[in-house]
Amino acid sequence: EFVRAAIYLFVLNLAGVVQSVSFDKERKANFNKTEFLRHMAQTDQLTGAENRHKFDERFTQLLSQAKNDNLGIAVAIVDIDWFKQYNDHYGHFAGDECLIRVAQAFLLMKRHPLDSCIRFGGEEFILIKYGVSLEQSAVWGQKVIDTIYQLNIPHATANDEQRITVSAGVIHWHPTSSLTRTQLMTLADEALYKAKENGRNQVQLHLSKTR
Ligand code: GH3
Ligand code: MG
Ligand code: MG
Repeated sequence: EFVRAAIYLFVLNLAGVVQSVSFDKERKANFNKTEFLRHMAQTDQLTGAENRHKFDERFTQLLSQAKNDNLGIAVAIVDIDWFKQYNDHYGHFAGDECLIRVAQAFLLMKRHPLDSCIRFGGEEFILIKYGVSLEQSAVWGQKVIDTIYQLNIPHATANDEQRITVSAGVIHWHPTSSLTRTQLMTLADEALYKAKENGRNQVQLHLSKTR
C-alpha cells in the first residue's frame, strides 16, 4: 500500500515538473514573440532605423529624462540632397540601397543608449544626440554631414558634389527650455531649409536662445 502511494506521489510530482517546464517554455516563447512584435512595430522595415511611431511615442519622455538629468540634447533633421535625381538616374532599387547605407552610417554614430536615428519620411531622418552642449551639438552636426560625404556614394546627376550628400538643421535643446516638441521641430526644420538654400552638403545650427 505504502509503495503504491509513493509511486503515485512520484508520478504526480513528475507530471508537475514537466508541466511547469513546458509552461516556462511557452511563457518565454510568448515573451520573445511580444518583444519581436514590439521591435517590428517600432522599426522602419527598409533601413532598420527607428520609425516615426517610436519617435512620437518616446520623444516627450526623452525631454523629461533630460530635464531630470539636467542635460542638453541635439536634434538634427537630415535630408538627402538631390535624391529624386538619384532615383531617376540609378533606379528605385539603387535608391533603396542608398537609403540603407545612409541609415546604417547614422546608426553607427550612436554612442549613448538614448541617442537615436529615426527615419522620419522618405529620405529624411531625425537624429538625436543625448547629453550635449551647444558647442558639442555644432561639432556633431558637422560630423553627420562629413560621415555621409565620406561614404562616397557616386551620384552623377547631383548638381554639385557628384556624390551623395546630406543637409541638416540642428537645434540644441537646453534642459531649462520651455520649447514644446512642435516648436523644436519647426526650428530645426527652418535650419534645414537654410542649409538647402545655402548650397546643401552642410549643417545649419539654430542659434537663437532656446532656454
Ligand atoms: P533636395 O536636395 O531639395 O532635398 O531634393 P530631393 O530631390 O532630395 O527632394 P525631393 O523631396 O524632391 O525628392 C525626394 C525623393 O525621395 C522623391 C522620392 O521618390 C524619393 N524617395 C522617398 N522615399 C523613398 C524610398 O523609400 N525609396 C526610394 N528609392 N526613394 C524614395
Ligand atoms: Mg525631403
Ligand atoms: Mg532631399
